[in-house]
Amino acid sequence: MEPFDLKNQSYLAIENWGSQFPELIAGFTTKSGGYSKGDYESLNLGFHVGDNGSNVCLNREKVAELLNFPLKFWVGAEQIHDIVLKKITKADRGKGSNSYEHSFKGIDGFYTNEEGILLTLCFADCVPLFFIAPEKKMIGTAHAGWKGTVGQIATKMITAWGREGIKPEEIFVAIGPSICEKCYIVDKHVITLVDKSLEDGGALPYNLLKEGQYSLNLQELNRQILLKTGVPDKNILITQFCSSCNDDIFFSHRRDKGKTGRMISFIGWKETLDRL
Ligand SMILES: [Zn+2]
Repeated sequence: MEPFDLKNQSYLAIENWGSQFPELIAGFTTKSGGYSKGDYESLNLGFHVGDNGSNVCLNREKVAELLNFPLKFWVGAEQIHDIVLKKITKADRGKGSNSYEHSFKGIDGFYTNEEGILLTLCFADCVPLFFIAPEKKMIGTAHAGWKGTVGQIATKMITAWGREGIKPEEIFVAIGPSICEKCYIVDKHVITLVDKSLEDGGALPYNLLKEGQYSLNLQELNRQILLKTGVPDKNILITQFCSSCNDDIFFSHRRDKGKTGRMISFIGWKETLDRL
């Protein structure tokens, strides 16, 4: 069953997690219902892509309202296709929420166990990973394009949580809307690095199309990397949504030839009243 459910024109929620944990807000935005024009029409949430900054702020305010999670509680990252993660506390709230220059530099993943913080990252084809260890209240999200995936940013998250006393079998992961195998053609250089990140003997997450050209399934590669860390298969949800195929729902960097908007992954705990 598809784990990402379209709640309205502007976002999808991770249905299974949301029903188990009513205080959890987790999902992925679409390209619809915003104020941006032209190549960024209309719900572009990326500041760094050449769109009008005040429209991006309006779009972000719109999503904040829909999620009932104030923009001043969001955090955002620079995202450089690296594998550096940052643990977020309430003191960090607001950084990168309404400007790119104040976002976390050199960071491609966030995690926190505090309430009242919305972790957000920008996407247009790269794989959004969502993590939750409900017993420990830990949540996280990571940006895994091919570089982050073969660099094993997924493993980095599981290892970082291990240092917090969380075992892989306590962790649930959702792999979100991103470019599908059919739409994602890569060269031999990428495949060489993919091979290095795989266990021997497993099913290959790519197919040879012709000499030097392969179609790569980044979602499946992330799943295999997660299994290797000890996260049980039953704990991993994978979307069927492709950012490139579903051109009425998502922006796609490849399909739109580099000039396009960004969706966000988001995950956060709403503040509960017993903390007040
Ligand atoms: Zn596709």
